[in-house]
Amino acid sequence: MTMKDKNIKKYKRIANKIIKLIPMYKAMSDSDLQNQTILLKERLANGEKAEKLLPQAYAIVAEADRRVLGLEPYYVQILGGIALFYGNVAEMKTGEGKTLTATMPMYLRGLMGKGNFLITSNSYLAWRDAEEVGKVYRWLGLTISVGVPKDASEEEVDKEAVYGSDIIYTTHSALGFDYLFDNLATTLEEQYVNTFNYVLIDEIDAILLDMAQTPLIISGAPKVQSNLFETSDWFVKSLSEGEDYLKSEDKRNVWFKEEGIKKAEKYFGIHGILIEEWRDLYRHLVLALRANQLLEENRDYVVEEGEILLLDEANGRKLIGTKLQAGLHQAIEAKEGVEITNETRSMGSITYQNLFKKFKILSGMTGTAKTDAEEFRETYNVNVIQIPTNKSIKRVDHPDEVYVTNKAKVLSSLKAVKEALKKGRPVLVETGSVAMSNLYSLLLLQQKIPHNLLNATTVAKESLIVSEAGRKGAVTVATSMAGRGTDIKLDPEAKESGGLLVLGTERMTSDRIDFQLRGRAGRQGDPGDTVFFVSMEDKIVVESAPKWVAKARKKLVEENEQKETAETKPLKEKKYDKIINKSQANRKNQEVESRKNILEYDEIISVQREMIYTARNKVMEGSIAFLEGIIQRSTENVIDSFTSEKTNLDRNKLIDFIYNNIAYNFDASTIDRELNDYGKKHVREYLKRMILTQIEQVHFKIPDSFQQLYFRRIVTLKAIDTMWIEQSDNLQQLKSVVNGRSWGQHRPIYEFQIEARRSFFEMKDEIWLNILRNLLLSDLVYNSDGSIDVDFP
Ligand code: ADP
Repeated sequence: MTMKDKNIKKYKRIANKIIKLIPMYKAMSDSDLQNQTILLKERLANGEKAEKLLPQAYAIVAEADRRVLGLEPYYVQILGGIALFYGNVAEMKTGEGKTLTATMPMYLRGLMGKGNFLITSNSYLAWRDAEEVGKVYRWLGLTISVGVPKDASEEEVDKEAVYGSDIIYTTHSALGFDYLFDNLATTLEEQYVNTFNYVLIDEIDAILLDMAQTPLIISGAPKVQSNLFETSDWFVKSLSEGEDYLKSEDKRNVWFKEEGIKKAEKYFGIHGILIEEWRDLYRHLVLALRANQLLEENRDYVVEEGEILLLDEANGRKLIGTKLQAGLHQAIEAKEGVEITNETRSMGSITYQNLFKKFKILSGMTGTAKTDAEEFRETYNVNVIQIPTNKSIKRVDHPDEVYVTNKAKVLSSLKAVKEALKKGRPVLVETGSVAMSNLYSLLLLQQKIPHNLLNATTVAKESLIVSEAGRKGAVTVATSMAGRGTDIKLDPEAKESGGLLVLGTERMTSDRIDFQLRGRAGRQGDPGDTVFFVSMEDKIVVESAPKWVAKARKKLVEENEQKETAETKPLKEKKYDKIINKSQANRKNQEVESRKNILEYDEIISVQREMIYTARNKVMEGSIAFLEGIIQRSTENVIDSFTSEKTNLDRNKLIDFIYNNIAYNFDASTIDRELNDYGKKHVREYLKRMILTQIEQVHFKIPDSFQQLYFRRIVTLKAIDTMWIEQSDNLQQLKSVVNGRSWGQHRPIYEFQIEARRSFFEMKDEIWLNILRNLLLSDLVYNSDGSIDVDFP
């Protein structure tokens, strides 16, 4: 018996207990039932374990759900709720009622303290779900809030109120950004997200797998404009594939070959482009190569009025205001010959993987997770538990219809749509790209078949269309991510005629996404069918099939062109199914690898980020004595590092150092009086005396002890932040540099680690020095109300 079987048995036992308890709560008056929250909180406060209270708490919520919403949780929902409390991924099919399921674990966790999050993939869903079940939490006496504005026109949320609630519904990116911003705050009061107790992620696979490719980055202060983008672009455009650079099989990575490097050295007239001196140039070359070879106009971005607008891969929407990081955006601008915008610095970044690992307990729910159970376990240490459906599944998943050409495939699939319509069945056509959904819509139009094309600009509108896709004879064309999280309900006539037909026009990037699409049919025991129409010309086959397939495909297509009549016949041999499955498996593996790779890099960054954030927090909480200690350590460190330099000290160097770091108004003539030689010991004592006198001056200038504390705190934080932002930005760039360097002996991640460590130590020295500089060289401006403004050096 595996671990998981044991768990599900245990959960079933608990669920049975809950079912038995419900009648007791049913008999209670409203006020008695509401009062249970207080009783449970008291028992928790007296040291009783939450686990022990679980059956009662769940029975209470179940009864409250019935009274407030008119929905009584099914047995399987209770079971799912238990799995979620214990930090699992509950695989529950579409339409099983995950929103209601969440009320049980969220309530019990809410009783236990703050910092409990329900995460959705967009703001619309956070609001919709919170409005749907928020009443229950409130009725039971807990507070709930939504961490995102309701729509774009609304003001920002009141973070204090949001994060002070027992239960918070929000999105992954809102939480991530708030967390990063918290770590740029100067006082504890400006930090809001400080408790990471429990998180329940809805559509967990979409958030942790599909969206995990891009880390969250806060960007700020513009960098000095570089003129290397254009020259690098010219140079890179002169290179040829195979000779000067190579692309990975999946066309998602590209790197220089030795030959390309040699040409670059010649072109720019330098030697050893990989040494630190030329790192910035090299970075620009890598960016130019990526912009030219990996990013495609109209697929990844569009050029509009001299601006580059990125496109969302999943649904083709323009991502207004979003830019690629670390210079890639500027490289595309150079490629397209539009004006180059300012590069901004990354002021902090985190991947979703590491954000959600901060929680004591991580759980999630989705219709599809089993296919990726291994990755969930390895990366997040969570188990996937399959929860049975409330009613048995009647949906039929048909084998793929395989064709030689794309054209044959599409034409045959249109026939299938028409047949379903004849019976009055609703049809959902799922495509792998925006281009395909547009094409399909055009074909339907030619056949005079009315339909909805899902390319709505808002999620809310999209959800509305999806929710209506179950009406008799409705045809809806969508891409795979569209309207996720919205349930398709059948009307009685649609149910009569055989239910929803889900028709995929190609297999998606993983079997998990295929299942997600199939799962739109057959909810709550409804009838339904699913089928994928595929061809040897599908993107997934072209890009990810085993190598030998390319030749075989060419031959097949040529043969097919000769015999016109046979064109629309499907391929029946098993080997074609195998090709499709193998291509998809290859593609999926590449994505798993790429996510692992991102994580490996972020692990290294994460160690540094945690050290810095911990240090910041100590400074924010620290007493005056603690801050005095820091200043003392800065003094020692700065003197050590100045006097440890290998070259000999002399009068000029010393004067320079003092002017730059200790005192602007220093009278150099005093040196000759006070220092008779430049031996290290003497210089050290001299500097120490001088720094201590200067520090005393600061005391003198700010007599108020509270202001004194505050001043010390902000000079320290300022020093940490300035240097960390620099480092954080440096690491982002370093990542793109080493990533484009995988030939010969270079192991990118290894190089990244060495360089990241080295620069971290360098940064620490810089922080010590800057604390002292900020303390001694800041200009203080006294206002009439007694406050002081600080101008940092
Ligand atoms: P999912 O997210 O799992 O696809 P939803 O949470 O959107 O499902 O719920 C689907 C539908 O089922 C909703 O209309 C909801 O009101 C209904 N529902 C959920 N649980 C119950 C229940 N216990 N009894 C009756 N209807 C329910």
